[in-house]
This record gives sequence, C-alpha cells and structure tokens, in this order.
Amino acid sequence: MTAVIRTRGLVKRYGRLRAVDGIDLDVRAGDVYGFLGANGSGKTTTVRMLLGLVLPTAGEVELLGGRMPRAGRRVLPRVGALVEGPAHHGHLSGRANLGLIDAAGPGGSRRTRRARIDEVLEQVGLGGIDRRPVRAYSLGMRQRLGLAAALLRRPELLVLDEPTNGLDPQGIHEIRDLLLELNRGGTTVFLSSHLLAEVEQLCTRVGVLDRGRLVLQDELARLTAPTGATVVDTPAADRVRAVLDGRVLGVEGSRVVVRGTDPAEVNALLVGAGVPVTGLALQRPTLEEVVLAAAGTSADRVEAVR
Ligand code: ATP
Repeated sequence: MTAVIRTRGLVKRYGRLRAVDGIDLDVRAGDVYGFLGANGSGKTTTVRMLLGLVLPTAGEVELLGGRMPRAGRRVLPRVGALVEGPAHHGHLSGRANLGLIDAAGPGGSRRTRRARIDEVLEQVGLGGIDRRPVRAYSLGMRQRLGLAAALLRRPELLVLDEPTNGLDPQGIHEIRDLLLELNRGGTTVFLSSHLLAEVEQLCTRVGVLDRGRLVLQDELARLTAPTGATVVDTPAADRVRAVLDGRVLGVEGSRVVVRGTDPAEVNALLVGAGVPVTGLALQRPTLEEVVLAAAGTSADRVEAVR
C-alpha cells in the first residue's frame, strides 16, 4: 500500500507543553482515516504540520511521498485541505470566494472553471447559493464552503479538520455521504474529529490522539472484530445458564454473553430446550470501548454522543 501521509517522531512543543508528542501516522491510499481525540489533544496542530502551516519541533512529515514542508509546492496542489475556521473573504459571495481560489489554480477556460465551481457547490449542498456575502453565512454554510474550496481541484487527498463542525444532523449526514462517495471514486480522506460515532460510521482506519500521543492506530474492522462470544437477548436469562452451563460469560439484564462464535448453534440449543430468544449477535467491542481501553481516563472527553 502506498503511504499517502506518513509521520515519524512528529513533535510540536509550545514552551513546556508538548502539544504533539512523537507521533507516527500512517495513512494509506484509499483510506478514510479518522483522527480522533478530545479537544486540545493536538489534532489541529498535527493537521497544520501535515500541511506545512506549522513547523514541527522535531520529526518528519511525508505527504504524497514528498517531505514537508519542502515538497509543499509540488504536493499541496494535489491535496484539498479544510483547517479549523476556514478563511474566506467575508464581503464576497461564496461563489466569488471560490472564483478567487480557482484563479490561483492551473489553467482551464473561464467556462470550465465556472462549471467546476457550480459542481462543487452542488456537491456540498450550496447549489442554490445566492449573492449573499459570506459574512452572513451560518457556521455550517461556511464549513460547506470550506469543503467546496478543498474539492475544487479534484484532490487525491483530502485533509479535513473537524469537517462537520457547526453542521446540523442532516448536514452531517450529507457531508458523510459526500466523503464516502469521493472515497469510492479514489480519494483518500484524512479527517480529525472529537466524535466517536462520526468516526465509527465513516472511517476505515482510526488513529487516537490522547494528550499529544498516538495511543492507537489500526483498521476499524480489526479494532471492532468479534470477541469470540455471542450475545443472546432473552426474557429468560436464568434459563440460558441452565441450558448452556459453563459457557455463560456474563449476564446483564436480558443480555447473556455466551462463549462461542456460532449464533445459529447457540440458538438451536436454546430453542431446542424451549428457551425464548429475542436476539442473537456476535459480540464486538464498540469503538468507544476500544478507545476507552487505549486512552484510559481521558476517553470520556471524546464524545460518544450519537
Ligand atoms: P480542538 O479540537 O479544541 O481544536 P485539538 O485537538 O485540535 O483541539 P490543538 O488545537 O492542536 O488541539 O491544541 C493542542 C494543545 O496545544 C492545546 O493545549 C493548545 O492550547 C496548545 N496550542 C495550540 N496552538 C498553540 C499556540 N500557537 N501556542 C501555544 N499553545 C498552543
């Protein structure tokens, strides 16, 4: 797999604070990488270092195979970025703002540029955009415009810092679908978030930052792989114990955790013995549980709201 983002021993110190404390990120072509961490854990500082906006105190950043910040001029045109508080010209319309960015980009006729601007505005849900100046936009609209700007040059890599910031649930849903669609089209996506549920629903690979340290980095599917147990939902938990003596690992209300990775087999045993079963599933840890185990006490600061 090609490395799209690679950092080694990346450190950023502010005085005595190690905001980013020696992290080794590995983002591969085709990933939707979720960079998860509580507020203040160092996500934005990392994203800024990836893009060459902040210089590391120590360590290395490689972006699309080029060493940053030196390779910036060569690789950044292939990267679409949205960093906290996207900067726009407040007195201009959204379309005019995109026009300015595009003007700095490579060639194309005025008509194709305008068509591309319309296309990205449509993609981010600002299709019906009017002449209102950007300063009159809501936070969510600004965020969408920032994303439109990031998409303009059809980047092969998107680096997005908290892309759903300020969006309502419907907006979050739309942006999630858009990012998945872009990823299906071959775009690698790296996004930071403090929302576990967002990362769990969107990402293929997860990195967890805890007070500047990368405490976890792996495929989501591997992190939440079956544990080797089956969860039985039943109004008769006590009878499960009698039938499956020795295999019951725990009982919590109407949920019984049973050793074994074949729900059909468990079902057959229970139904055969006349025990009512209302649900059966392989047990998997949630991302929340995995993060809690890796980040310890501070995981409660990563919001688990759904
Ligand atoms: P948030 O989601 O709140 O933006 P974050 O995970 O992005 O949080 P950072 O913004 O990277 O975190 O900040 C990490 C730490 O570094 C914080 O303690 C912050 O106060 C500190 N920090 C960031 N930028 C600076 C700076 N320019 N000078 C001093 N300290 C800074």
